[in-house]
Amino acid sequence: MITQYFRLSVVLVVLFLFVGCAKETKQVVHLHGETMGTTYNVKYVIDERGQIDGLKAALDKRLVEINKLMSTYDPTSELSRFNQNRFTTPVPLSADTTTVVKEALRLGKLSHGVLDITVGPLVNLWGFGPNKRPEIVPNEAQIDAVRDYVGLDKLALSSAGLRKLHPMVYVDLSTIAKGYGVDELAAIMEENGLENYLVEIGGEMRVKGERGNGEDWLIAIEKPVSTERAVEKIVSVGTNAIATSGDYRNYYEMDGKRYSHLIDPRTGSPITHNLVSVTVVHPSSMTADGLATAFNVMGWDEAISLAEKEELAVFLIRRTDDGFEEYASPRFNATVTVKN
Ligand code: ADP
Ligand code: MG
Repeated sequence: MITQYFRLSVVLVVLFLFVGCAKETKQVVHLHGETMGTTYNVKYVIDERGQIDGLKAALDKRLVEINKLMSTYDPTSELSRFNQNRFTTPVPLSADTTTVVKEALRLGKLSHGVLDITVGPLVNLWGFGPNKRPEIVPNEAQIDAVRDYVGLDKLALSSAGLRKLHPMVYVDLSTIAKGYGVDELAAIMEENGLENYLVEIGGEMRVKGERGNGEDWLIAIEKPVSTERAVEKIVSVGTNAIATSGDYRNYYEMDGKRYSHLIDPRTGSPITHNLVSVTVVHPSSMTADGLATAFNVMGWDEAISLAEKEELAVFLIRRTDDGFEEYASPRFNATVTVKN
C-alpha cells in the first residue's frame, strides 16, 4: 500500500517578498500566467515610457513556442516526437531544443553523469514521470532492463542532429527547460530595453537591477520542511539567476521509506541521502536550474567538492540528528548578500 504523500505539481521553491520602504518608489508592473505545468511571474519597474504594450503577449507566445518544442506532456511536441521515433540516425532539431540539449550534455559531463537527460524511463518506472506511478517499487530486473537505454553515452549531438544509440532512448529536459524559459523571457525584457526586472517560472528566477525603490530584488530561500512555508534565508543576488532543488515536497512514501523524484543514474534508484535543499546562483537560469538538480543528486560531500573545484555559487542544507546544517561555497558568499 502506498502512503499518499505525493504532489505532482512543481512547487514554488523560492518566494519573493515585498518589503515596504520609505524611499520614493517607482511603479512595478506584475505580469503572470501559466506555463510548463506551473505558473510564471514577471515584474518590471516602469521607466518614463510607462507600461510596455504587448509585453505579456510576447512572453506568452515565447512560452508556448518553448512548450511546443520541449514538453514531454504534449505528445506532439518536437521532443515527444523525437522520443516516439525509434531511429538511430541523427534527427535534426530546432535551434532552441539543440541549445538546451547541448547545455544539458555539458552539465551532464561536468557532474560526471549525475545530471542525465536520458533518465526518464527510470523516472517513469519509479512513478514520477508523466506515466502513472507504480503500485510497487520496481525490482532489480526491471531496473536493469530499463538501464540498457539510459545513460549519456546513449546520445550523440552533432551538426546533423541528435542521435539515439539505442532505439528506446527517451530524453527528458524537464530539469533544465524551466530555466531556459526564464532566460528566454529575460531576453524579451532586454529586447524591450528594460533594466529592472524579475522573471520566474515555477521557482526558477532571474533578476536584474532594482525593485523600484533603488534596492536589490529580495529572494527568500525556503526552509526545507513540508509542513509549513517558512524562510531559511533572505538574499539578494545582483544580476543573476537563482535556482533551488529540494525534495521536501515532491516525494512519495511507501512502507515508511521516502522516495525522491530525483534518480541517481549511477544506481538507477531515487536519491536517499540527507541533502534536502540546494540553491545555485549563476548568470544563466538554465545552468542554475540544471546544476541545482545535479548537486542535489550528488549529495553533500560530492556537491561541496564540485562547487569548490568549479568555483560555483552553491548553498546547501542537510538534515542531521541535531537539525539542519548549512554550507555556502566561497563563490556563493562572494556573490550573494544575506539580508537576515
Ligand atoms: P528539482 O527542482 O527538485 O531539481 P526539477 O523540477 O528541476 O526538480 O527536475 C526534476 C525532474 O527531473 C524529475 O521530475 C525528472 O523528470 C527529472 N530527473 C530526475 N532525476 C534526474 C537526473 N538525475 N538527471 C536529470 N533529470 C532528472
Ligand atoms: Mg532543476
